[in-house]
This record gives sequence, structure tokens and C-alpha cells, in this order.
Amino acid sequence: MTNSNKQKEYDIVIIGGGPAGLAAGLYAARGNMKTVILEKLIPGGQLNNTLDVENYPGMDHMTGPAIAQAMEKQTLRFGCEIVNNCDITNVELSKETKVIETDKGIYTAKAVIIATGSEYRKLNVSGEKEYSGKGVSYCAVCDGAFFKEKELVVVGGGDSAVEEGTFLTKFASKVTIIHRRDKFRAEKIIQDRAFRNPKISVIWNTTVNEIKGNGGNVTSVKLQDLIKNEEKDFICDGVFIYVGLDPNTQLFKNKVKMDEGSKIITNEKMETNVPGVYAAGDVRETPLKQAVTAASDGSLAATIALGYLEKLHDKVAVK
Ligand code: NAP
Repeated sequence: MTNSNKQKEYDIVIIGGGPAGLAAGLYAARGNMKTVILEKLIPGGQLNNTLDVENYPGMDHMTGPAIAQAMEKQTLRFGCEIVNNCDITNVELSKETKVIETDKGIYTAKAVIIATGSEYRKLNVSGEKEYSGKGVSYCAVCDGAFFKEKELVVVGGGDSAVEEGTFLTKFASKVTIIHRRDKFRAEKIIQDRAFRNPKISVIWNTTVNEIKGNGGNVTSVKLQDLIKNEEKDFICDGVFIYVGLDPNTQLFKNKVKMDEGSKIITNEKMETNVPGVYAAGDVRETPLKQAVTAASDGSLAATIALGYLEKLHDKVAVK
């Protein structure tokens, strides 16, 4: 057995190091459990893609990465371990001892908290894949600065599209939001800010059916007016796509119960249908997807997991 194949035993393994996973790690380690967070990249999750967070209570106008770093520091202080750049290849969750296979070794634990979050949904139109990184982006914070004095299109009508569209006006000369309906679903305060911004205009009842370019960069999008049923080309230098989030649950298919949208179903205690397995944050079916609700989910999941482990321990002690 090579060193990386050696089993590493923990009380609680947390999969994912966004706000849900970090909060779970803090509560679990503070509860004296040997805890590890296995993170695909670096801790922070979607917080790392958010420049200005104004609705996390007590942290007025902090950057997402700054909040993530503060959470990470606090979680580490209680003794939680964090493994970054960890690629999970398989999970076995059905037995009392759960087994998580990764490129960094095999981890076992009696309780697992799934906090793998979500990723931006693709539009699935021609040109999207080809021009990804050449004008097509899903992250205004990461890529906005490449579009100084350029004309941009943002697709979507939720909080992300309208908020990130407004953020992009810091760089772009013009931002056009293309939305398939005649009203946004974004929060009113976010909409009002966008409507007041002279660099933003909106094209309603319209979809983006194709992204075109010159081989190197995006040059236009093909729009379809859903009312007039007409198509036209719209010149732009970049396209930011914000059409919702897909949960990162592929690893857990047929292992825990999910809804039709592949979100993990939990009860109000974050328990899945599998004993000892919990889900927290964007990865589960929840009406509000924010850093603060993810952190709340994570802390509750860890607290319930602590109770579960105590009961298991008592059972063993009685035998
Ligand atoms: P979302 O709320 O699901 O909105 C997705 C938007 O994309 C909707 O307007 C939807 O149109 C549109 N859409 C979906 N599929 C499409 C397609 N194939 N073609 C064109 N348009 C399409 O997603 P989100 O904005 O990424 O937000 C995700 C979650 O994060 C939400 O719970 C949101 O509240 C939260 N969030 C919060 C903040 C904040 O509080 N500041 C910031 C960002 C995100 P319809 O409206 O017609 O369905």
C-alpha cells in the first residue's frame, strides 16, 4: 500500500470548502471531533467569485475572498484540517463507516457532510464552448478587467445577472442584459441599482441563440426576439452568462436521494436519507442560496452529526 492509499481515519469528513463546509468544519472541530475538509480547489466556494458582499450580517461591504479567508482562519484555529486541490474519485456512504477515495488518499469517517455547492449553468448554445475564455465568461470578478471600454452582453435575469452586470460597468463602456422574460427575478434593490446605471440597457423577451466570433474573440451574439419571432445579430466583445446554478452532485448520484434538479434532499436537520450523511448549502434543495444560509446549514449539519456520533459511541460503549 502506497502512502497516499493509506486510510486516514476521521470522525467527520466534510466534502467542499465553501461557506457551508467551512462553517461545518468550525462547528465539528470545536465540538472536539477529528475533522477534515476535502476541497476541490481552495476554500471559499462561490465567495471567491464575489467582489462585494453587502448582505452577510456584520460584514458590511467586504470582498467575498476576504470573508472566505476569515472563515478559513477561524475553522483552522479550532483544529479542523483542510486538504486543498483534492480530487474525489469515489464515495461509499451506505455502511456505518463511510469511505471517501481521493487522489490524496482514502479517508474514512462515521459522518460525512456534503457541501460541494454549485457551479454556473451553461447556456448550451453554439459558440459557447468554443469561445469560453475568449470572450465567454461565467465570472465577472475574474474576467471583468479584461473588458475595459468594451461592449458586453450579460445573459439572465436573476440576482447574479443583474448584480454582476452592474459590476461589469466598472470596466465596460456598455452592458446589455438579455433576458428571456419581461421582468427580472432579481431582488428589487439589485434591479433599482441596475436601472439607475446609465451604462446598462436591457433587451427583454429575448434569448441568445448563438455566440459568434472571429476565431480568437467573440464579435457578436445571435438574438431571438420571442415576441416578434425575429432573429438579429448584436455586436459585442464579450458574453457573461448567468442563467442559474447546477448543484455539484454527480459523485453522489444513486447514493443519496435527490430531486429532479439533482439537488440533494434533506430534512430541516440537514439529514439526507442515508444515516450519518448530511448535506449543507447550495448542494441541497433550499429556497435561499446565500453565503449566510450556507454557513447556517453547515453549522446545523455539524451539530446534528455530533449528536449522531455521540449516539453511535454510546451504542458501542453499552455492548
Ligand atoms: P437564478 O436565480 O436561478 O436565475 C437564473 C436566471 O437565468 C433567471 O432569470 C432565468 O430566467 C434565466 N435563465 C435560466 N435558464 C435560461 C436559459 N436557458 N436561457 C436564458 N435565460 C435563462 O440564478 P442566479 O441569478 O445565478 O442566482 C442563484 C441563487 O443565488 C439565487 O438563489 C440568488 O438569489 C442567489 N444570489 C444572491 C445574490 C445576492 O444576494 N446578492 C447574488 C447572486 C446570487 P427566468 O427568470 O425566466 O426563470
